[in-house]
Amino acid sequence: MQDEYSNDINRIPPDAASETGAKTTAGNSSRPQTERPRFKPETGGDSGLSRTGARSRKRTSMDKILPVLCLVLLFLIGMGAGVGIGYRIWGYEKPYTVDLKAIKSPDWIEQKLLRKNIFSRPDVSMREVKNIVVHYVGNPNTSADSNQRYFDSLADQDPEQGGASSSSHFIVGLEGEIIQCIPVSEISYANAPRNFDTVTIEVCHPDETGKFTDASYDSLVKLTAWLCEELKLDEKDVIRHYDVNGKGCPKYFVDNEDAWKQFRKDVKAALKEQ
Ligand SMILES: [Zn+2]
Repeated sequence: MQDEYSNDINRIPPDAASETGAKTTAGNSSRPQTERPRFKPETGGDSGLSRTGARSRKRTSMDKILPVLCLVLLFLIGMGAGVGIGYRIWGYEKPYTVDLKAIKSPDWIEQKLLRKNIFSRPDVSMREVKNIVVHYVGNPNTSADSNQRYFDSLADQDPEQGGASSSSHFIVGLEGEIIQCIPVSEISYANAPRNFDTVTIEVCHPDETGKFTDASYDSLVKLTAWLCEELKLDEKDVIRHYDVNGKGCPKYFVDNEDAWKQFRKDVKAALKEQ
């Protein structure tokens, strides 16, 4: 019987127990310790008031925690944004993933590689291409082929005596023909001091203004867009020789800023078509 009785007391809901004064009975001692403060009368033993107090205390602590949580969240968002902006300002060095040796030129580009020599094809590996640089040959009405032969002829100079150093990865001719002189995995001698991370395109022109023929222009856009695709670059990475070292080359694009902007737009459009 005694066991049955104490079990009954235990079964009385905590609120009821407190109201019935069962607090002092033996059964009360088996109640979990944690429950105690909840039923301790705050004022005049009114347990109803006491529960309201507990709820409002809970609310008060939530009211305190919520702003802190918001601050922590804002801090984290701020950190993320800060890192993002930092990357933008100082540049995030992504690992370079282009395999320059694996790039195969399409059949609309004629391969006429220069002999390896210290004056025009020094056989120095290019580790990374950051820009495509556009030039004009500066020698009106010469063909892509004659410019290629000129670069190759530099190999005949005597290294002991020194001599002229010049070359280009690609030459675009007056008829729109394209000749490749150096693989994109090797450096050319055209954009000092940026030879180590740039690919060069020389373009032929009929006269002193340096304006390209329509055929040359179209081939230049096509070639540049193809290079952008292969080298994982975009039209903003296409620059003029002028942008590298202030030289007035390619003359027409330096004299006519709008024509240069239009060229970049045309490259962008060609890139979208690919
Ligand atoms: Zn140039």
